[in-house]
Amino acid sequence: MTAKFNQRQLGADTDPPLRKLVSSIPDVLCTYWLSADGSSHRYLFISEQVKAILGIDPGVLRESADALFAVIHPDEVSEVRASVAESARVLTPWSYQARLKVQTGHYEWFEARAMPERQADGSTIWYSQFHKIQHYKDLEHSLREREAESAFQADFQKLIAKLSTEFINLSFGAIDQCINELLEAIGDFFQVDRAYLYEFSPDYRVMDNTHEWCSAGVATIIDSQRDVPTDGFDWWQSKIDEMVGGNKVIFVEEIEQIPPGPERVMLEEQGVCSMFCVPVRVRGLVTGFFGVDSMRNRTWREDQADLLIIVSGLLSGALERNRLETELLNQSIRDPLTGLHNRRYLMPRLDEMLGRSRRDGEPFALAMFDLDRFKSINDTIGHLGGDSCLRRFAEILLEQTRTTDVVARFGGEEFVVAFSGVSPADVRLTVSRIICAVREHDFMFEDKILPLTVSAGIAAIGELDAVPSSPDPLIRLADDRLYCAKQEGRDCIVDASGVSRI
Ligand code: GH3
Ligand code: MG
Ligand code: MG
Repeated sequence: MTAKFNQRQLGADTDPPLRKLVSSIPDVLCTYWLSADGSSHRYLFISEQVKAILGIDPGVLRESADALFAVIHPDEVSEVRASVAESARVLTPWSYQARLKVQTGHYEWFEARAMPERQADGSTIWYSQFHKIQHYKDLEHSLREREAESAFQADFQKLIAKLSTEFINLSFGAIDQCINELLEAIGDFFQVDRAYLYEFSPDYRVMDNTHEWCSAGVATIIDSQRDVPTDGFDWWQSKIDEMVGGNKVIFVEEIEQIPPGPERVMLEEQGVCSMFCVPVRVRGLVTGFFGVDSMRNRTWREDQADLLIIVSGLLSGALERNRLETELLNQSIRDPLTGLHNRRYLMPRLDEMLGRSRRDGEPFALAMFDLDRFKSINDTIGHLGGDSCLRRFAEILLEQTRTTDVVARFGGEEFVVAFSGVSPADVRLTVSRIICAVREHDFMFEDKILPLTVSAGIAAIGELDAVPSSPDPLIRLADDRLYCAKQEGRDCIVDASGVSRI
């Protein structure tokens, strides 16, 4: 009864002009019937195109719609069924996008639209149409890819802008922290497992891992990568040559690309699957490299090298500036003749030591040295000879003191050593050793041995009534005692206990 009713509308006996019209439409038109209990379904009418598109005979579908449901993509078929059942329940227009297996055997996207109509016996008929939308899907996909690409480029530019700003505003002494932050940001951005910076020795035979970032769960290796000799790593040395000589990037997509040898064993032990290394240049010379490791096989962007070169450019700029600043700082706080610190460096250190004395009661003393009858040394061997004596005396001071003591050239042939955290007795002992070392040392210039002695005055903070606000009173006291030592005939020490002749 129902079938007859529908055949009258758009069925096998549809009048020829209407059938011609339907067959001229590229979409598939159909009337889909679902029994009231949902147990059987079929197409009362389906246009001939279904044969050309899906390879299913319309006659088969008129018996049962199963053959059409069988070509719906397995990921979508149950949802299509559920949505048809829901459409039958609520009788609202139905539309759906799903993949169907076409005649060539692969899946393509289709969109179906239908208007349900309840029948007197409780079954439902949909007046429906479906057509291929694969080209829209392809377009949508490429659009999304392009959007993702633009977003990636924009994010990368933002990241570089942020890192550049940080490097430009870098305060002196903060470079290590800034490099660590850069490695983390870049590691995160490219979703790698390790990002690092190595520095080469000037002859490129030793490399030192100076900075490292590891993703969560990846073991740090920086401690085993300090001052690593490159001897025996032939493949790696050839790569270093390419970086240094040709400014080339090292790109290993799969570790199997590395010829069997110690470097491959080492990388395999570290769990590295692929890596990228880019040379870092300072003042035109390759001084090291920046790199990233991945612990899993992955695909890299085609422009990955270009992006990492931009990052290494940032690092190069920062390292270059840091080196310049270090040199300038050294020039401003060091005496060029002896290499010792100068007065500009000494005074703030004395202020710090005073601060610690004031706060924690830390003992602190300074010794002032003046070479004896130095004018006559200059007169005997000339100014250059005098200079070499000053340099040698500076070496003796460094040899006899601890690295925590501050040794400075105070002026001309006067020097100051500041001792913190040392008892006055120990200070006197050290100064005595210096006086003896100078007396016993053969100062040579142009085959002449020069007798040279030094006098010293020592002043300790504990001798003053209160910790002064500036180091001047302590310097003055040491200077007065140095004058006394000269009066006492030189080559001796004067401190709170009087004159000591060693
Ligand atoms: P005294 O034992 O009393 O200290 O005698 P002195 O000859 O050392 O006397 P004074 O301190 O007055 O002379 C210091 C000399 O040190 C004078 C100066 O020419 C010399 N001098 C200062 N700076 C330098 C320097 O950089 N190089 C050389 N060669 N000589 C210097
Ligand atoms: Mg002097
Ligand atoms: Mg002198």
